[in-house]
Amino acid sequence: MRNIAVLGATGSIGASALDVIARHPDRFTASVLSADARVEELIALCRRFRPKHAVIAQEAHYLALRDGLLAAGLDTQAHGGPAALAALAASDACDSVIAAIVGAAGMESTLAAARAGKRLLLANKESVVLAGALLMGACRDSGAEIIPIDSEHNAIFQCLHGQRDAARQVRKLILTASGGPFLNRSRAELAHVTADQACNHPNWKMGRKISVDSATLMNKGLEVIEARWLFGMPPERIEVLVHPQSIVHSMVEHVDGSVIAQLGQPDMRTTLACALAWPERVESGVEPLDLGRIGTLTFQQPDRATFACLDLAYAALATGGTASATLNAANEVAVAAFLDGRIGFLDISAVMESALEHAETLPADSIDVLLAADAAARRHAGLQVAQHAGASA
Ligand code: NAD
Ligand code: MG
Repeated sequence: MRNIAVLGATGSIGASALDVIARHPDRFTASVLSADARVEELIALCRRFRPKHAVIAQEAHYLALRDGLLAAGLDTQAHGGPAALAALAASDACDSVIAAIVGAAGMESTLAAARAGKRLLLANKESVVLAGALLMGACRDSGAEIIPIDSEHNAIFQCLHGQRDAARQVRKLILTASGGPFLNRSRAELAHVTADQACNHPNWKMGRKISVDSATLMNKGLEVIEARWLFGMPPERIEVLVHPQSIVHSMVEHVDGSVIAQLGQPDMRTTLACALAWPERVESGVEPLDLGRIGTLTFQQPDRATFACLDLAYAALATGGTASATLNAANEVAVAAFLDGRIGFLDISAVMESALEHAETLPADSIDVLLAADAAARRHAGLQVAQHAGASA
């Protein structure tokens, strides 16, 4: 029996994870569940999954959680605050941790799980972008195994399975991108798109932050950085290819010319079932892939001029050090402002570009340095957002 901590249980990945866990009560138990602030949703999940521990990240809601669990007659123990979350991720309460918190807020618990040698099922790509070197170092030291949940990285993980010296035998990694809801649009057409349009992804149902990231192509930029760390591959050997049907989840090109791809429905339960059961395979509840019905799979180069975020990610990787942390933090601030209707879609990349230009880049060798870079970028991006909001008012 595997005891699983689902961090970010009330989110989109959390729901897919719990759906797969519920299909295999003989193999998996959700022993820890966490949410940001939505106490009622978390208690409803506790009723269903009866975890040993429930954590609400915003400490102000701790009493409501504790009282709600008692009132529901559950013996789930309540916890509050980020420190409690990180402590539980590292504790005996779990042997596997699904890191499915959105944003840099997930970094502390992801790192705690890695340091404690847990099996880390990693969806929270921002923590890799922010602290890739520290995270991989922590895994090497503790023996923690990372199984990627991001569908592209899970695909590459599957394509590489069994290969010991990947960097020498692999010519390049090819990350596929759906292109999002605004594929083939011009910059002029993008100037006035709304948050709801940006969140209306053609193939995937996801949280709002990653949906906007998909629409700007920043999601793919974050994923290039994620791939650099997870697979130790230099950026010039990581390519992005637009594939609007989201059936080929990514590919690995070997030096002999063989290209191995992983295919599946655009449903994260496949990825989660793979990660939960690895190296075994279990049923995920996902409809079989019917390629005869789909008929055509197409591929095209990304439009890097219109979707400027992708090259900003490569630029941050080339700069190195804390530049990726700067990029990520500025993106989080800009996306939140766009979702609130304060800035336009095209302002998102402008805010990030300005943050990268202004930031002092330091070696990313401690959490303190990373958190300082993150905070400085948030301050700078906040000022930029105010300027853009003022300009469009
Ligand atoms: P979501 O917004 O649906 O859910 C986020 C979860 O994190 C919620 O449970 C929320 O309560 C929790 N959370 C938010 N802020 C928090 C904070 N400050 N502290 C603690 N918990 C907090 O997001 P999602 O779409 O499930 O994405 C989660 C992560 O997985 C992201 O990093 C995303 O990039 C990655 N990811 C998602 C998908 C997808 O299909 N949704 C695919 C690949 C990768
Ligand atoms: Mg992805």
